Amino acid sequence: MNKNDFGPIPGSTIFRGINGKKMIIMAANTRIATVASGIFKAAKDSDSAVFVELARSESDLGGGYTGLTPHDFGEKMKEAATAAQCDVWALHADHITIKKGDAREVEQTRQLIDAQINAGYTSFAIDASHLFNFEGKNVREELSENISITSDLALYIRNKMKGKNFGLEVEVGEIGRKDGQGLILTRPQEAVEFIKALNEHDVYPQVLAIANGSTHGHVYDENGSVIEQLSIDIPRTKAIANALRENNLDVGIAQHGITGTPRDLINLHFPKGDIIKGNVGTFWQDIAFNVLKIYEPGLYKDIQEWTIQTYRPQNPGKRDAQIFDGNCKFAIKEFFKEIYSVDEVTEKAIQAMAYAESLIFFRAFSSYGSASLVRKSMDQPTE
Ligand SMILES: [Zn+2]
Repeated sequence: MNKNDFGPIPGSTIFRGINGKKMIIMAANTRIATVASGIFKAAKDSDSAVFVELARSESDLGGGYTGLTPHDFGEKMKEAATAAQCDVWALHADHITIKKGDAREVEQTRQLIDAQINAGYTSFAIDASHLFNFEGKNVREELSENISITSDLALYIRNKMKGKNFGLEVEVGEIGRKDGQGLILTRPQEAVEFIKALNEHDVYPQVLAIANGSTHGHVYDENGSVIEQLSIDIPRTKAIANALRENNLDVGIAQHGITGTPRDLINLHFPKGDIIKGNVGTFWQDIAFNVLKIYEPGLYKDIQEWTIQTYRPQNPGKRDAQIFDGNCKFAIKEFFKEIYSVDEVTEKAIQAMAYAESLIFFRAFSSYGSASLVRKSMDQPTE
């Protein structure tokens, strides 16, 4: 391997390295970046490849709700990976979301992508899944806007990457979208038509996000208490992966919204290898806030009060605990200075928790050994 630093490698290289293996690579949303040191250290010690990612809403040119621009995020992640001597990781732009698809939004999206590329991102998720045409007469018509915007932006990224390899994730079926009956799931035929159409535009993603029963963030019972998430539809996920394979489409599945799904269920029942990327987000935020609750009770109380006061008007009838749970992510920017200037003892506790929990995820995802596989594949001159 002729790589002599701890900077990010292309997401495509990681997926190629684990091709055919029953493994899921964790993509950690490090919106409170302090957790990253622990995650990278666990990746190094367990020989696991890993992605770190933030979505557009969390990190954009104005800092998003984490207060981190793509440049800030890239720098923090490179620093953490270097300190942990972790060399097999990708810097991923999660949910580059396009909601309207008009010229102005596409132009702003290109500017965001420029900033991400300048910051050293090596992997990108284009999410135009909101542009679903319910009036379409067939699958192609339903997906036509998603297909054209996704192709346009993917080709833009390829052009701007100037021949460098990169990871590409695309999205069919909006995650967490509901109708009167409940969550709307992606159909196998939708996934197949979507990837075929992208291939026709010369766009070849390695990974596809689908709607398969998960939601982002926590799941609540009728009283607003956080409960386990048991809703990921495994047979449907397998059916989609099979349909893609039967059509010779070389693309794996990205599982979004894993927080709350029991790790033993993941370990024993997730179709690893069908799912190749597993996004874990809110979980890491919980880790940081749970440590602050004990180590920095004053700060935690301030965060709690600010969140509840700010978001109570928009959430009539909800209990304080649920208002806090659903909106504390917006406090990250408000309390940016305080969260990033906690003492070393607090930081160590956050990182130790992140380290231990990462090991559990890597084990449940069967990703131990994946970093070596990726390193080996990088030695082969096929890419
Ligand atoms: Zn997601």
